[in-house]
Formats: sequence, structure tokens, C-alpha cells
Amino acid sequence: MQNHIDALNTLLGDEQLLVGEAIGEKYQVDWSGENPVLPPLVIRPDSTEVISKLLKYCNEHRLAVVTQGGMTGLAGGATPRKNEIALSLERMKGIVELDHQSMTMTVRSGTQLQVIQQAAEAAGLRLPLDLGARGSCQIGGNVATNAGGNQVLSFGMARAMVLGLEAVQADGTVISAHNKMLKNNAGYDLKQLYIGSEGTLGVITEVVLRLFSAPRNKHTALVSAGSFEDIINLLHVAQSGFARLSAFEVMWEDYFQKSVAETDNTSDPFDKKYPYYVLLESENDSIDWFQQVLFDELEKGTILDATIAQSGKDSEQFWAIRDAIGDLLSRIPDPANFDIGLPISRMQAFIEKAQTTLTEQFKDLQTITFGHLADGNIHLTAWSNGNTTSHEIYDHVYELLQAFEGTVTAEHGIGVMKTKYLKLCRSPEELALMKTLKQALDPNNILNPGRVIGDA
Ligand SMILES: Cc1cc2nc3c(=O)[nH]c(=O)nc-3n(C[C@H](O)[C@H](O)[C@H](O)COP(=O)(O)OP(=O)(O)OC[C@H]3O[C@@H](n4cnc5c(N)ncnc54)[C@H](O)[C@@H]3O)c2cc1C
Repeated sequence: MQNHIDALNTLLGDEQLLVGEAIGEKYQVDWSGENPVLPPLVIRPDSTEVISKLLKYCNEHRLAVVTQGGMTGLAGGATPRKNEIALSLERMKGIVELDHQSMTMTVRSGTQLQVIQQAAEAAGLRLPLDLGARGSCQIGGNVATNAGGNQVLSFGMARAMVLGLEAVQADGTVISAHNKMLKNNAGYDLKQLYIGSEGTLGVITEVVLRLFSAPRNKHTALVSAGSFEDIINLLHVAQSGFARLSAFEVMWEDYFQKSVAETDNTSDPFDKKYPYYVLLESENDSIDWFQQVLFDELEKGTILDATIAQSGKDSEQFWAIRDAIGDLLSRIPDPANFDIGLPISRMQAFIEKAQTTLTEQFKDLQTITFGHLADGNIHLTAWSNGNTTSHEIYDHVYELLQAFEGTVTAEHGIGVMKTKYLKLCRSPEELALMKTLKQALDPNNILNPGRVIGDA
């Protein structure tokens, strides 16, 4: 490796390289915390040209490279494996252009999501991509994982906001596809190869984002309900009744009570406990209409109690209960953390079956459950205080999920942690086509090897 370090130093310039003790712990593992490995070399390029030269060299010498964004991924994709060179995008940041008339923003891939959101807001526009990790994750990582968080039900996942991009292929070729138009049917839509492929097919260096109009107003409510069926009825009412339903976050009692009991900045606004809670947000409705819709559902019994945010601060407090997951997870010993997807009609049966199966199987099993219900996405976290490992829990739940025709990942991706489960939700023909694509675009398997489709 020392020969390669010397050669890359000469080729790229020493300001682009970190070696030895200069390599900090942050480059050794993503937010999953699984299997940290200190890379022998970190490259922090400041331009597409440097990335192109680096990949060309690594391809010629068959050197494996792991691409690192904000390291908030939860699937181990950005965590180096032994002897992999880490390519950190942390210096590739900044806004290249905000085109107000076209409502687009072109950004370098290492730019933090929150910086982009704020720049859009300052221009009277918005980027409706939002997730709890907004202050640390990078847009390149969001696009590579096709991230989607709180507003997917109205605006779609990252894919729906990417109009164009620039990426570097394994052999160093730069694919410049800076499309700004909503409609462009000229040949294959090549950007889709890089969106959601978790860095296995190329390194994203710039992204052209579609911006949207800022909402005229927004109202937030926290409501409680007695049954899952009522939650689904409420979802349908909210989707048809509100001008735009921008969030519908469901929290099961186990999640809600743990969040309000164990995190400092949260409190329970209700004086009773309920089986379900929903944090919902509407845009562009009058407050009178927002209240009326919820009042009608209270009268019908679809919801059992409701509290409406009277200020931005109230709204932040409601969201703090939902966003406490990062804090809660960091305190749970060896959690099995799921981001599964299921048809909404099968969700409740699946959760009940999973909880029964796990409780019978493992002593002292505990769970917390919440999800972006309208997106068919549930987050289940299960642990058992040293009585089992997270890996045993993963095996049980994913096997069960297959019978319910769900997906093993609705948003975090496969990374390295779910490669063995990919076959549970993709057909042999789909897997074969994925391998064909990988072979065509990265024949020497230097880009994030072992991620997504696993090792050959
Ligand atoms: C508290 C918390 C809340 C979260 N909430 C959500 C949520 O609501 N929805 C959701 O989808 N995810 C969520 N996540 C997961 C995570 O934030 C997302 O997956 C995010 O998109 C990762 O971005 P990143 O920059 O941190 O990428 P990283 O973790 O650095 O990398 C993720 C993957 O993308 C690849 N990659 C990174 N940058 C590039 C690039 N420029 N080119 C090619 N490949 C690249 C990496 O190799 C790796 O495989 C959450 C995470 C945390 C910690």
C-alpha cells in the first residue's frame, strides 16, 4: 500500500491525502456502528478532476475504494472494509448555481442537506427532502441511497427531486448529465443508474435538484387513536381533506412512551396513554379548516384526542418526540433496527406477528415501533438486553417479512448489513440483472465492493 500512497501523493497532491495518525475515527464507521475499520488512506478531493484521476489509478491497479458522504448511513455501506481506500466527499461542498426561474439548484455532492434546505428557503423556495440526519448527511449520500424521510407522501423520495447529476465512473470517465428540465426523453435516463445504487456504480460529484414553491402556511397536530384501522381511515380523510398532507408519522405506544419518558426535550401533551399517536402536518389550508377536519374525526371517534400546534415552538416539540429516535437508538444495547416496507393493508398483521414470534423466541424482548405509514414504511427496533444478538433478531424478522411480501429496506438501503437478505425481496432475474449492471460499469469491482449485491 505504501507504494500506492506515494504514487497517489504525486498524482493528486499531498493536500488531498490523509495517512497514518491524521486519519480520524470518523472515517472508520458509519452511523450503524457495525464493524469499524480504519482505512489505510483517506482521499479528500476538492474537485471532480481529482476524483477522476484517483479512480482511474485505482481501477488500473485494482484498488478498492469506499465512498464516504456524511457517514449517517445505517446499512454499513460507507464503512471501509479491510484495505479499502476511503474517498471522503467532505471537501466537495458548495452551491454551484441557484436558477430561480427554472426552480433548480446545482450543488456539489458533499454539501450538507440542511445547507441546501436553508439556501432554498432564503430564495423563497424549498427542497422537500427532509430527514433527521439533515445536519450531517450530504446530498451525494442522499442521492446514492435514494433517501426519503418526512415528506415522501407528497413529494417522493430523493429520486423525485434529482433532475440531473454528474458522476465519475470506475475508470475515471466523467458522466456529465446536468439536465435541468422536468421532461427529457432523449435516450436512457442515465442518472437513474447512480440514484439509489449506494455508490456501487459511480461516484456522484454534482446534483441538479428540483425546487418547489414554499408553502403559504403549515399546520401541525398530534393526535391519538385506539386502533390501526382508525389510523388508516384518518390517513384517507387527511389525504382527501387537506390541500396537501405533508407528514403523517405514526408512533405506536411503545415508541411514544419511551420517547417522552427518556428524552430531555420531549413531554406528553395528553393526560392518558393511547395505543397509537399520529403527527400530521398540512400545508396551504386555513387553520379553521384544519381544525374542522380534526374535530369531525374526533366526533366520529376515529381519533381519541388531538392537540394542535399554536406556534412554531409547539410544532418543534411535537417533532422532537418523533425525531428522538437517534437519541433512543444510541442508548439501546445491540438494537436490531429495521426500516422495512410493506403494503399498508398488511402492516398491522405483520407487526403483531413479528412481536408475538420474537417474544416467544427471546427472553425480555422489547420493541419500539414508528413509521412513515403513508409510504408503507415501518421502523421497528427490537432488543433483548443481552439475551440474544441483533443478528438473530434480523434473521427471524426478515424471514417473516418474506411471507408478507415486504421489502427489507424502504429507505436506508442494503449496504453491507442486508446483502444476505436481498434475495428475500428480489427475484433471481432481478439479482442477475443487478450483477450484469455492476459488471458493465465496474468490471474490476473497485467501487464499494461487497455492498448491495454482496461479494461474488
Ligand atoms: C438520525 C437519523 C435519521 C435518519 N432518517 C432517515 C430517513 O428518514 N430517511 C432515510 O432515507 N434515511 C435516514 N437516515 C439514514 C441516512 O441519513 C441516509 O441514508 C442518508 O441519505 C445518508 O447520507 P450520508 O451523506 O450520510 O451518506 P453515507 O452514510 O456517507 O453513505 C451512504 C451510502 O452512500 C454512498 N455514498 C455517499 N456519498 C456518495 C456519493 N457522493 N457518490 C456515490 N456514493 C455515495 C456510500 O458509499 C454509502 O454506500 C437517518 C439516519 C440517522 C442517523
